[in-house]
This record gives sequence, structure tokens and C-alpha cells, in this order.
Amino acid sequence: MASEFDLIQRYFTRPAEKAVLGVGDDCALWEPSPGMLQAVSTDMLIEGRHFLAGTDPEKLGRKALAVNLSDLAAMGAEPRHALLAIALPAADEKWIASFARGFFAQAARHGIELIGGDTTRGPLAISITVIGEVSRDHALRRDAALAGEDVWLSGGTGAAALGLAHLQGRVQLAGEQLSHCLARLDDPDPRVALGLRLRGIARAAIDISDGLLADLGHIAENSGVGIDIHADRLPVEPALRGCADADLLLECIAAGGDDYELAFTAPAANRAAIEQIGSDLGLCLTAIGVVVPGNAGVNFRDPGGQPVKMARAGFDHFGA
Ligand code: ADP
Ligand code: MG
Repeated sequence: MASEFDLIQRYFTRPAEKAVLGVGDDCALWEPSPGMLQAVSTDMLIEGRHFLAGTDPEKLGRKALAVNLSDLAAMGAEPRHALLAIALPAADEKWIASFARGFFAQAARHGIELIGGDTTRGPLAISITVIGEVSRDHALRRDAALAGEDVWLSGGTGAAALGLAHLQGRVQLAGEQLSHCLARLDDPDPRVALGLRLRGIARAAIDISDGLLADLGHIAENSGVGIDIHADRLPVEPALRGCADADLLLECIAAGGDDYELAFTAPAANRAAIEQIGSDLGLCLTAIGVVVPGNAGVNFRDPGGQPVKMARAGFDHFGA
């Protein structure tokens, strides 16, 4: 049977191009670009908690890196290096090869380099750390939103949560709607290119992992502002239109999670620039609300400005 070292050598070692020293020593070594801040983030994925037992390993490899890249995107950071800590129940080389294929495919798309990690036996769990770079003046921080700015959303939310609701038997999807929702759930496309283009254009940003309402709540709280969302302007992806369960659809759009879109704030003067970015990237960017003064939290409003009640505030691992 392959040893831990054989597995690392065979499946997780690639020549370092960006780093000074990659996989194989006690530490990796890299040289930050002069004058840049280093952005670093870790996310953990546990079988049974974040993905179902039996999930296709190639998709898992792609998604595990995607959710981490999404955090770099939300800072406007350029991806550079990654570390992969993985606990495996067995040295199943077919599984590992397939996971590595998905991981490295995603890494190649976004120019991030695996420079180290840890491999151990245990219940299946994956923890990835990503390192990126952003200049001090251009980091898109959660605490930077200012009253009067527009609130924008990339793409649309809800599809991944609707796909999960289907897998859980809470709704019956079919045809293109089903395949679209499952693709959004299994294979999120981190908005790295958008994050990079928003440097100097947007001020605050967050990636939508726990639900639009909950994640906008973090911008509101950290920035000491409120956010008013125009409920009628929330984008509904074409594939989701005509969903049989309208209440569930709205709940998924407002609070579903697993979307990995970016929500960001920007001065009204940058509207044309943002629309240009959307058209350059072929990505729908929608102004969905405004930042308002005071600690009022996030509120959905109808066109008359009256509050609209939403069922659930978003996903909280320790919530009821
Ligand atoms: P140590 O005993 O010093 O922690 P390890 O035996 O755990 O070293 O790892 C040996 C080398 O392989 C290190 O450079 C480590 O960063 C790298 N490594 C271990 N597991 C992985 C992995 N899953 N992906 C990438 N690199 C890994
Ligand atoms: Mg180790």
C-alpha cells in the first residue's frame, strides 16, 4: 500500500513556479511582491456537513478550492499560493487521483499554486488555505461601506440552495432547472476576475456563502451602516423562473447560501464603470439596494419603501 509520502509525491507535488520552494520541505518559501499586502484565508469542508458522503471526488477537489478562491475574490486579491490539509479514511488512489485532478484543474484556471499541506488518515475532511495579494489601497474590506453607496450583486443567488432542497426532497425540480441548480451547487465558479476588476471601483465586498441576507449583514455590521435591498430588483436567474414553489424560491434567493457570488458596495459615480465590467466579463451585475446611515441591519423593501418580511436569515452552523 502507498505510504503518505508516496501519495504526496504522486498526487500533490508539482514543480513550483511562483514560490521559491514548494512541496517537499518543512515549509514552503515564497517572496511577497514589493508593496503588496498578503491576503490569507482558510476554509474547511467536512463530509456529512459540507458535502454528502459519496460526492464525486473530482467535483469535490474543484469545489474545495473554489470556495477558498471565492474569499480571495471578495478581497480583490490575486490568487498566488495554496496549502491543502486532507484527512482520508483510506489510501484509495483512484479517489485521490480524481480529487487531485479537480483541484489542479481549478488551480490552473485561477493561477494559484499548491505549495504544501498535510496528509493524514481520518474521517474525510479537507482544509485549504489560500494566499493572495492586494495593494493596501484596493483591498475590498467588509468594514468599508459608506452610506449613500449602491449595493451590487453578481450573477444571481438561490440556485445552489434550490438544488440542495431538491436533493433533500423539499422540492421536485426537473430538466434544465434541475441540471442548472445542481451545477451551481457542485461546481461554483469563484468570481476572481470580478474581484480583480473591482479594485479601485468598489469599496466593500463579501462573497455569498451563507446566504445573501446573512452575508450583507456582515458588511452592514462591520461598516456600522444599514442596507436597504429593493426586493423587486433581486435578480432571478432565467433557469429559476417558473419554479413551482415561489416561497421556497424567494427563501433560497434571499437566504439560501452556497452561491459564491460577490456582493459589493460602490459610489453611484462608478455605475457606468461597473456596467462596463459586467459586460466585459459576460457577468450580470445588478444594483440591488443602497447603503443607509445607522445600524439598521439589512432590510428588504418593496417599491414603496415598506419592509418585506423574509423567512430565514441565512445559514448559521450553530444556529437553531
Ligand atoms: P512534516 O512532517 O514536516 O509536517 P509532511 O510529511 O507532513 O511534513 O509533508 C511533507 C511535505 O509534503 C511538506 O512540504 C508538506 O507541505 C507537503 N504536503 C503534505 N501533504 C500535502 C498535500 N495534501 N498537498 C500538498 N502538499 C502536501
Ligand atoms: Mg505534516
